[in-house]
Order: sequence, then C-alpha cells, then structure tokens
Amino acid sequence: MSKTIAINAGSSSLKWKLFKMPEENTLASGIVERIGLNDSIFTIKYNNGEKYEEIVDINDHEVAVEMLLKQLTELGIIKDFNEITGVGHRVVAGGEIFQESALVTDEVIEQIESLAEFAPLHNPANATGIKAFRKILPDITSVAVFDTSFHQTMPKVNYLYSVPLEYYEKHNARKYGAHGTSHKYVALKAADMLEKPIEDLKIITCHLGNGASITAVNGGESIDTSMGFTPLAGVTMGTRSGDIDASLLPFLMEKEGIETINDMVYILNNKSGLKGLSGISSDMRDLEDAEETDERAALALRIFEDRVVKYIGSYAATMNGVDAIVFTAGIGENGVETRKNIIDRVTFLGATIDEEKNNVRGKERIISTDDSKVSVLLVPTDEEVMIARDVQKFSE
Ligand code: AMP
Repeated sequence: MSKTIAINAGSSSLKWKLFKMPEENTLASGIVERIGLNDSIFTIKYNNGEKYEEIVDINDHEVAVEMLLKQLTELGIIKDFNEITGVGHRVVAGGEIFQESALVTDEVIEQIESLAEFAPLHNPANATGIKAFRKILPDITSVAVFDTSFHQTMPKVNYLYSVPLEYYEKHNARKYGAHGTSHKYVALKAADMLEKPIEDLKIITCHLGNGASITAVNGGESIDTSMGFTPLAGVTMGTRSGDIDASLLPFLMEKEGIETINDMVYILNNKSGLKGLSGISSDMRDLEDAEETDERAALALRIFEDRVVKYIGSYAATMNGVDAIVFTAGIGENGVETRKNIIDRVTFLGATIDEEKNNVRGKERIISTDDSKVSVLLVPTDEEVMIARDVQKFSE
C-alpha cells in the first residue's frame, strides 16, 4: 500500500492532498497559508469531516512541510513518514521542455526555475515546494506535473501568434495555455460518463474559476486553448482581462499616466475582469447577489458569459463539430445561471440544457436534455488525483 501526497505550492501557501494509491482514496487534505508572515494558518481535514487548525508563525516552506509531516503522524493519519512513498508537485509553466510529467532531479529543478520567465509568480514558488520536500524526504518518488503539458499536443497552427516567426524561433514566444491537468481530468471523466472512447469525441472543456480557460479536446488531445503565453489571455476572468487589443496598452498608459509596461500588465492581471468591470468584486457570488440592482454587476456577468460563448463557438469551428461541452471549477461547478445562460446561446450547435438537471452544484452529472445532440456535463475537477496518478505511474 502506498500513500502519495499531491502538492500545490504558492509563494506563501502550500495546498496538499494525501491519497492512498492505487485506490485513489483521499485520506486527508489541507492548506498552510501565510507562510513567511506572522500568524500562518495551518489546516488539516481528515476522517471525513474532522478538522485540525493551528495559528502559528511558519517561516518558510521547509518548516511547513516538517510541520505537516509531524501533524499527519500525531493525528494518526500516517504512522511514520516512510508510509509516504510518493510526492507530486503541481508546476505552472513547463514551456516546451516538459511534454509530460517528469521525475524530479537537480536538473529538472533548475529547468523549472529557468522557466520562471513564463510564470514569475508561480514557478519559483513551485520549485520552493519541491526543494522543501526533497530535503525532508529525499528518497521518495518525486514527480513534477505541469499545467502546460496537456496542451503540448496543440498544432503549430494554433499555438503560434501572428507575429514575426523569429520571435518563436529565438525566444519560444508562443501559446502555452494552462489548467492542463484539469482539462485533461474532466475530458477523461466526461468520456467515461458518456460511455464512449475519448478517441471518438470532440469535447470543449470550460474551466471557469477565478482563473478561467476553455480547451478544444479532439480525440483526447488538447488542440487549442484560450489562455496564451501566460494565463492572462482568453475569456474574462475574476481579475484578469482576457483577450484585448495590444494597442490599448500604449493608449491607456499615456492617458492614465501608467509609467511602466509592468504596471500596465499588473492592471490587466489584477484589476480587470469581473472586478474591473463591476467595480464591486472579482467573485461571481457577489456579482450574482448584486445583479438585480447594480447595472455594472449585471454587465460584468453578461460579458463573462459572452466570452465563454465565443470560445465555444470558435472551438466547435476549430474541431468542425462538438459532441460534449463540459463545465468545471468554481463557477462551472456552481454557477447554475451562468451555465444556463451560456448553453442557451449555443443551441445552434445542438446543445440544450435540462433546467432541472442543471439545478445542481458541485456534483458530477449530465445536464443536457435527453435529446440534446451535444451533451452538456458538469464534472467537478480533481487536479490532485491526476497528480497522484502521475506519481503512481513513475512508482510502478
Ligand atoms: P475557483 O477559482 O475554481 O475556486 O472558483 C472561484 C469562483 O467560483 C469565484 O468566482 C466564486 O464566486 C465562484 N463560485 C463558487 N461558488 C459559487 C456559487 N455557489 N455560485 C456561483 N459561483 C460560485
């Protein structure tokens, strides 16, 4: 019996889930927040509903990992560190180097760090998490799982930008996409639920969370995705603008006195999207609450839906058809109205939502009518189990 831990390390946080493999049973999960700050928050959920929480100063990721392993033992979730035989780390940017998950070596860590150019907030933090585990549990199978690898099957026609080709050849400037682990998981699950081989399906997966991306999955492979060189591109998101005309940047910088291009990109990443449009919040629930009385909140919601609709239409064209549309992540799993409003605008594709079936949150379900030509599915994502599966592959 082996226990595998899936890790998602941020710059000041460490999210984790412990699995019994190969059964894929979740034994415990948790998060360490505010690492490096005062009053870090350390939480463990276990035994189907029990919760352990401690507020304590945790200086760095290594201390967080040490504390995590100690608490797992003290709570009786594991008897000994040695029970954990594998660890899988989520890494945001894998560039063109990592087409698949990779066994962690010193070279792999260096490569992940060198890819920080493509994900300055995420990759250094991911590498810190990897190093912390490696120091404390040096002998276990350690695997890096990349958000971008699922999209490495995209053809050149879809990943190249229409700029001088030398920029790609010299600098690898191209579309990489993100959320790959989630898109892959929900596409596989959808094929399972439809009882059809994924090789025979054209699926559009809509990962709609605070970050959002849409992917065209043809025959099980990602052939196009809405995020780009970085996760800024694509549909409107919580705080990110999604696609815009690049000429807007110098224009706004001049008009608004925004001094550097980095400041401008910061605004596009952090002050735009639902938050910038509504002036209220980046959170879908807040906008839904305000929708009836606040025009800007309603407008933000309609724009969000509109951009998703446009990508669905575009990817149905890219694949010359679509068999299934899948919703996942916070908004995709819980946004009953959002799902309905989106599907009601793509009935021309042959997709019809069943309002009764759609009236559900966070549960795996087919939500289209029985006679809908295109199946519509709600599939809660599980990036962690995909990470644990990849660790398992390297352990066999
Ligand atoms: P994620 O990034 O996947 O955690 O998703 C976060 C987004 O999901 C936020 O915009 C939330 O408002 C949204 N969300 C979570 N629960 C609900 C809900 N019950 N109804 C609508 N949106 C929700």
